Amino acid sequence: MQPNSTYSQIIVVLLVNDLKQKVITTMPKIFAKFTKRLTSLLPPELELQEAWLLLSSRKHSMLLNRRRAAMIVNRVRLFAFLFAVLTPMWSVIDCIVFDAPLWIYLAVIRILASVAFFGLFFLYQTPGRLLDAYRAMAFLFAIPTAFYIASHLLISEQSLDNISASLATGYAFLPFVLMAGLALFPLTLKENLFIASVILFAQALVGKTLNWPSYMGGFWLLILISAVVALACLSQLAFMIALVRQAMHDPLTGAITRGSGEELIGVFWLRSKRYDRPLSIAFFDLDHFKQINDTYGHEAGDTILGDFAKLLTENKRGTDVFLRWGGEEFLLLMPDTNLEQAKIMLNRLQAKGFGQRPDGEPLTASIGVAERQADALPTKQMLLELADQRMYQAKKQGRNRIIAVG
Ligand code: GH3
Ligand code: MG
Ligand code: MG
Repeated sequence: MQPNSTYSQIIVVLLVNDLKQKVITTMPKIFAKFTKRLTSLLPPELELQEAWLLLSSRKHSMLLNRRRAAMIVNRVRLFAFLFAVLTPMWSVIDCIVFDAPLWIYLAVIRILASVAFFGLFFLYQTPGRLLDAYRAMAFLFAIPTAFYIASHLLISEQSLDNISASLATGYAFLPFVLMAGLALFPLTLKENLFIASVILFAQALVGKTLNWPSYMGGFWLLILISAVVALACLSQLAFMIALVRQAMHDPLTGAITRGSGEELIGVFWLRSKRYDRPLSIAFFDLDHFKQINDTYGHEAGDTILGDFAKLLTENKRGTDVFLRWGGEEFLLLMPDTNLEQAKIMLNRLQAKGFGQRPDGEPLTASIGVAERQADALPTKQMLLELADQRMYQAKKQGRNRIIAVG
């Protein structure tokens, strides 16, 4: 072998190795930069770990589901009202442009659609369940889709002059209106994709009667609109997630706020009654808390409140809800937990301790527990009051104890 070619081979190998090394070291940097740029696209009000909530509703909290359901139904009703009023008004134009009986048939279909829209507007109440909201949306989209298909079939059967033909193509805009209307709702990407594909599928079926180039052009435009609409839906959802987070969590302790907590008590109460399941509530009041503030300052008190809330949140069950009732008073809602199980859980917690006071002494709490079934309580207010009364008994009996009877 020629020494020259051996040298050049060695040089090539060295160069390749050098290049490999460079690629290996720079690739992760480029990748990290790219992901950073990509995440900077996320709405600024969202925290990074919340980005997944934009994809699907599987991990959404109960309160987020309720807010979203309420907003979706409200917007369905708004949309329904608008369409209920506008749909029959177009009959005037139909009457001028189309001959009888076509415009009369169209008017009948329009009135039927308007009645259905009014029904949706009047009959739908603000629900707590997402399923009801989905159903309301399905109705909202089913009415114009049925109207669109019926009117399209009617019009395409007739031989039309120029004006009425151009007006007839106006009916073909309905899928675009539906797609654009989706932008009114705070939807996840999954929900958005599902609804958009239903509209695209309907367009693919019905659009066949038009000529091919304009059909393909229209279809492409519909896809573009669906992409923009998805962005609109996602940014609404992002705002909603951030707002619900802010309204739900007490900024000092991270516990659920009283307002959201009361809503959850209502939901748990109804569920517990409907499925005949136990529901326990523990009322916590920290002992001699004022002393901490008076001796060590308000900030020291704040830190202790934060530590206590963290400890409780980490040690409760996933289905339990821990909320700040006010000041140094907290509630633990324990669905599907009877009085005995609640006592075991609270004794375990108490034995572990609730943290330390600034002087090194253990932080203690007086706890009152009540349970819907065992205490035979007819209203959620009475459940709360009983837990509160028992907490006061715990105070009277010397603090640092759990009272579950009396
Ligand atoms: P007891 O054992 O009888 O419950 O005594 P206590 O001192 O805990 O009871 P009290 O209800 O008289 O005092 C509660 C104190 O909690 C009063 C207030 O200074 C303090 N507090 C309420 N909210 C906060 C807060 O957000 N931060 C701090 N640092 N202290 C708070
Ligand atoms: Mg108090
Ligand atoms: Mg207290």
